[in-house]
Amino acid sequence: MSKTLSAIAQDSDYDPNSMPVARAREYIRAFLTPVQGIERVHIRAALGRVLAEDVISGIDVPAHDNSAMDGYALRHADLASDADTTLAVIGTSYAGRPFEGEARQGQAVRIMTGGVMPAGTDTVIMQERVTAADGNVRIPAGQQRGQNVRRTGGDIGKGGVVFPRGQLMRPAEIGMLASLGIGEVGVYRRLRVAFFSTGDELVGIGQPLGPGQIYDSNRYTIHAMLTRLGVDVLDFGVVRDDPEIIRRTFAEASSVADVVITSGGVSVGEADFVKQILNELGEVLFWKIAMRPGRPLAYGKLGNAHFFGLPGNPVSAMVTFYQFVREALMVLMGVPQPAPIPTLKAICTSPIKKAPGRTEFQRGILSHAEDGHWSVRTTGDQSSQVLSSMGQANCFIVLPDDQGNTAPGAEVEVQILEGII
Ligand code: AMP
Ligand code: MG
Repeated sequence: MSKTLSAIAQDSDYDPNSMPVARAREYIRAFLTPVQGIERVHIRAALGRVLAEDVISGIDVPAHDNSAMDGYALRHADLASDADTTLAVIGTSYAGRPFEGEARQGQAVRIMTGGVMPAGTDTVIMQERVTAADGNVRIPAGQQRGQNVRRTGGDIGKGGVVFPRGQLMRPAEIGMLASLGIGEVGVYRRLRVAFFSTGDELVGIGQPLGPGQIYDSNRYTIHAMLTRLGVDVLDFGVVRDDPEIIRRTFAEASSVADVVITSGGVSVGEADFVKQILNELGEVLFWKIAMRPGRPLAYGKLGNAHFFGLPGNPVSAMVTFYQFVREALMVLMGVPQPAPIPTLKAICTSPIKKAPGRTEFQRGILSHAEDGHWSVRTTGDQSSQVLSSMGQANCFIVLPDDQGNTAPGAEVEVQILEGII
């Protein structure tokens, strides 16, 4: 950790009221270290988990020199350099059923892809290149020694690092482990993330709405986003805007979880008593991020737990989760360099009004245009309470700080949400 949270306020250009997106990410990043604690799990249970130790191969892959082609295995030294050579075919090496004998001078062995190279042979000639008849095979000149042979350990050598600590386990990695005969791996324990919603206007589903009340949707969105990340989710419910209850809930959540996330209550006007409580329990920074949607964001430590205070507006809560929390949680889960949300360039067909000085994440609908280029349009109304627009969107159109209005036909960067959202 480079410095304490409070020391950040000493940075000469620190302005909590206008915090650039990239700067906020950097500040948060400086406080993140992976969870402690390793579990050994079967590789089937390792999907989405993060390796807590290097995986070392106990075998060579492949375990034997073997053929990359269907053809004939032979001794390269037998081949004439400037004429065809005829060799006697003495047997066959199938994948999984090696030829038991040895090829001597003047002999070749029929071999299938994956077949073990018979003793004495060093080279494979593709069957399409040869003429076979009467137990003999005729090989044209010009063959390279060692061609079409997959060498022992050529993919992975015994004792080599197959995957480093910090590797996220995806289907390919799990298959790879199985190919090495490895059935169990050490992964970081699951991150425990507690969250709750704040606001007197919020009602849980199953209850009737009174005047001025709304259903609490953030807790469900956040639950779903956390579930996608593969963390243990601890739902602390809706907490009324009551200092005593909020204090108690923060204290309990931060004592049992690695991360506490809240939505609502960190915007100006509301923040005061929440701010006071948080700074009694730990150290928390309150920022107005130079972005839209999602201006208010709080980050800090409550004891050992990390705290993220997300804005209450449903779209803002999602956008700030994706732009700040997702990556931070992955670092805490043990991935040292989480892959960013994939981006691509697209032609924006909608006009977009925007003032320079903040980053905007507009909800967009990305599609292939006729000419093979990506084209994107906005979902329309970009108000931060319009959650239905997040449902229509499959990308964020990212308009950087210095960008002003965008005319139809301009190229923009988009973040693809498919698979992330
Ligand atoms: P706040 O950040 O608490 O000022 O909330 C901003 C807006 O988001 C208000 O209109 C709240 O009613 C709304 N809001 C806050 N929390 C939630 C929630 N959990 N689900 C849906 N809307 C919310
Ligand atoms: Mg509120």
